[in-house]
Amino acid sequence: MRSPSDYISRRAHAVDASGIRKVFDLAAKMKDPINLSIGLPDFDVPDVAKEAAIAAIRAGHNRYTQTQGIAPLRERLRKDLSAEMGRDVGEVLITSGVSGGLLLAILATIDPGDEAVFLDPYFVMYKHLLTVAGGKASIVDSYPDFRFHADRVEKAVTPKTKLLILNSPSNPTGIVMSEAEVRAAVEVARKHDLLILSDEIYEPFLYETGGTGFQPVSGSSRHGQDAHATSLPSPAKLYEKTVILRGFSKSHAMTGWRLGYAAGPAEVIAQMTKLQQYTFVCPPSPLQHAALAALDVPMGDAVAAYLRKRDLVFDKLGRKFELVQPGGAFYIFPKAPAATTATDFVARAIENNVLIIPGNVFSERDTHFRISYATTDEKLARGCEILSSLV
Ligand code: PMP
Repeated sequence: MRSPSDYISRRAHAVDASGIRKVFDLAAKMKDPINLSIGLPDFDVPDVAKEAAIAAIRAGHNRYTQTQGIAPLRERLRKDLSAEMGRDVGEVLITSGVSGGLLLAILATIDPGDEAVFLDPYFVMYKHLLTVAGGKASIVDSYPDFRFHADRVEKAVTPKTKLLILNSPSNPTGIVMSEAEVRAAVEVARKHDLLILSDEIYEPFLYETGGTGFQPVSGSSRHGQDAHATSLPSPAKLYEKTVILRGFSKSHAMTGWRLGYAAGPAEVIAQMTKLQQYTFVCPPSPLQHAALAALDVPMGDAVAAYLRKRDLVFDKLGRKFELVQPGGAFYIFPKAPAATTATDFVARAIENNVLIIPGNVFSERDTHFRISYATTDEKLARGCEILSSLV
């Protein structure tokens, strides 16, 4: 007779979530912690978007939408992205979060045995989704500066490599690829005929760009951002075989709304759409209408607040820890003190009521830890003081 555990697939067993689980277990025991672990903005969904969601529900937008998402939202995103990238970006698919976009992109492109290259540290999902698809993650060490080193990346490419996954601004390091690095990445992709998956979920949280030559965004057409905002060095500006993945979770603090989008070559988007039809079906209907309204809300104040927090945490921790200044997102990835693993250091931080995430959740190494500075200035300052006192 089979016991319930005998029904579990090898695929499910192959996904190891033990690192994160340990942190959650420890966190569950904490009372009112200084929580520097959360990967979501500390502001709320803009009122305009909330009202639009309620209005959409009242207006009866409560049924399935087209699999690919509602036309006005797709058209608006295609127009905005194409203006930003300086070329038509291809088809747009509204996804259930960027997570949904990642899953569909990987399922649509990776056959068992196919390989995808990405930098270590990495966003946790890449590795596990590749496992689910039967693919192989070729993980390229980017320590200690977390930059894109084309020579290291190229060494990891084999004839089985299909995807180059880029994540700029990065979770967990906050590093933003410079224009030169993006050019180098595109060169590797062209040379080895790779599809680039560009995870740009933190695109609005951009504090500086590394270099010139990428077009500054003109006027207010871009998602209500301030007119002076510079645009992200994105591989999509240079390379048509790029699937851009962006979303509303971080930009508009809608992590629970589950809305993202993918844009890229029609053939790839068509296959992702087909797979969406038999999995997610469609993203939440009323929230797609609300997302359209959210695109016109200026979010510059939130970005300015995070820039200030970035400077605060970089300044305070820089006195005690080895760290690299982030250029975007709301994370920083300092090195744990010498002679301790990150896991041990995080355990000590948790004993002192500060919740952070050990680097081995995002990495093959256990030497660094991730701080999310998306919290109040008071908690951030207090958290930095406690962490510094542990060195
Ligand atoms: N990519 C990166 C780099 C992320 O950090 C996250 C969320 N933490 C996601 C994708 C998924 O975001 P969501 O599914 O909420 O849109």
